[in-house]
Amino acid sequence: MIRYQIGSRHPASHYFDVSIRIERPDPAGQELRLPNWIPGSYMIRDFARNLLDLRAEASADGSSGELAIHQVDKSNWRVVPCQGELILSYRVYANDLSVRAAHLDHSHGYYNGSSVFLEVIGQSDQACEVKIERPQGEACSDWRVATSLKRKQAEAYDFGLYEALDYDDLIDHPVELGDFTQFAFEACGVPHDIILSGRFECDETRLAADLKTICEHHIRFFGEPAPMDYYQFQVLVVGDGYGGLEHRASTSLIAKRDSLPKPGQLEIDDDYRDFLGLCSHEYFHTWNVKRIKPEVYRPYDLQNEVYTDLLWAFEGITSYYDDLALLRCGLIDAPSYLELFAQTLTRVQRGRGRLRQSAAESSFNTWTKFYKQDENAANSIVSYYAKGCLIAACIDLKLRALSDGASSLDDVMRRLWQDYLRDGRGVEPDAIQKIVSQIAGVDLSDFLQQMIYGTGELPLLDLLTDSGIDVLQRVAKNTLEKGGKMAVGALPDVDLGGALKDDDGGLMLLRVAEEGALQNAGLSAGDVIIAIDGLKLNLAKLESRLLRAAVGDVWQVHAFRRDELNQFDVTLRAAQKNTFVLSLSEEEGGKMSWPGI
Ligand SMILES: [Zn+2]
Repeated sequence: MIRYQIGSRHPASHYFDVSIRIERPDPAGQELRLPNWIPGSYMIRDFARNLLDLRAEASADGSSGELAIHQVDKSNWRVVPCQGELILSYRVYANDLSVRAAHLDHSHGYYNGSSVFLEVIGQSDQACEVKIERPQGEACSDWRVATSLKRKQAEAYDFGLYEALDYDDLIDHPVELGDFTQFAFEACGVPHDIILSGRFECDETRLAADLKTICEHHIRFFGEPAPMDYYQFQVLVVGDGYGGLEHRASTSLIAKRDSLPKPGQLEIDDDYRDFLGLCSHEYFHTWNVKRIKPEVYRPYDLQNEVYTDLLWAFEGITSYYDDLALLRCGLIDAPSYLELFAQTLTRVQRGRGRLRQSAAESSFNTWTKFYKQDENAANSIVSYYAKGCLIAACIDLKLRALSDGASSLDDVMRRLWQDYLRDGRGVEPDAIQKIVSQIAGVDLSDFLQQMIYGTGELPLLDLLTDSGIDVLQRVAKNTLEKGGKMAVGALPDVDLGGALKDDDGGLMLLRVAEEGALQNAGLSAGDVIIAIDGLKLNLAKLESRLLRAAVGDVWQVHAFRRDELNQFDVTLRAAQKNTFVLSLSEEEGGKMSWPGI
């Protein structure tokens, strides 16, 4: 038994105080390590950089003494051999307000085990317990505990003793501490909790009802019973933020205040739709990636990057079903769903990166590219989320077309789930392609190979048209619009090839499109445009000026690069029709054969 204890002597300083008692340490000298990354977020984060004041002592026959610790590398330590129980103590600096690490101050506490609990090497498969202590100080006197960790000796939502099956289990149940709002619902007989932390207004009854609908949909999609006997949505509400991380029996989310349903709000506005889509996404992961997972994740090597071509499936298929579930549940209608899907299509088609990097390459290089995006990302990479979602749609539409609607991607996902339940093995690199062909009854390996490993255009537009969806391609109204909706007002004939934002004294170039007008003239991301043809302008003025411009016009642009003023001659180019709007075909009588509702 490994006994962890976590508390804080001074929460405002962001320090968690952690100790570990190891009954039977390795007689050759106990080794310990901290993960360098957290499953679901594929980047080396070196959590050990926040670990301080590591000390070790032995306790045998009432005697104790401090032991020497040798640091092996950035995240590994070895304690000299000792008799009896080994006790370690350390502090963890927790000031990362994200779902990936740990955060602590006077307002709340949050941690993933991967940021705070050292792994006892050689005993990782042993059961462990965690004593979660109330942080010290008046500010924490009304705090409670929210986690999907199993309670051992603790009242519900209270401090006390929790337990985990092994280290892998210990670090897959994030913990929220604070004076949060908690409410509950049941989905297919499984108790679910919603934990809201932060400052917010929320129609709790409405949110619980909508999440129940989504959760029951996903449970029934894969088939009852659900694979977990309890589930928790942990939501940190902030002024502006968005993100989520999946766990086996919970998810941690960051949501902006405006995305929660207000009391009395009847409609699902864009922000609430995004939030429900995020909840749906993370919940679908309960099956797709937390249980059905690449074989290279069994077990995770949390010290090093783990490479797989398959994130297009684990994130892309999940992205496909997150919004689709909202439609199938009746929470949103077909036009609303088609708007979201068209936005994903627009996002992929606007970047040249899709012509350079396949979905498989995007998956493989997530560690250094997708998770380390710079201003050139749209030119150099494609998102395995967005393109994976489009590939999932292609597979779904193809299977429906070949079977006259009798089979679909749903069957592929259920087969993957059944295979997992049967033998618990990980997904091999080509397993999904094989299952798709089996379900199609014909060999689709070329069709799949080109979509997953190729950089050519997907066959999506034809598949959509054949499924009763009208596809409209138009130019973007401005650099901010995401697509999916009919344009209001006139559209420009020309495009600058870049994304800009209003900035003090001018327009800041966020990124430039490769071979776009701005880049061709020599402008770069980071430049601040202060005048065009001698006149100062903001985004709104730029937009109206673009409406009056013609292809081939030359604009004299003055821009600062750092503190140096430069002049560029920008020759305007024809705007590209890379914004998509999808609608139900009139010819089909407004009836959609996809996505199967
Ligand atoms: Zn995801």
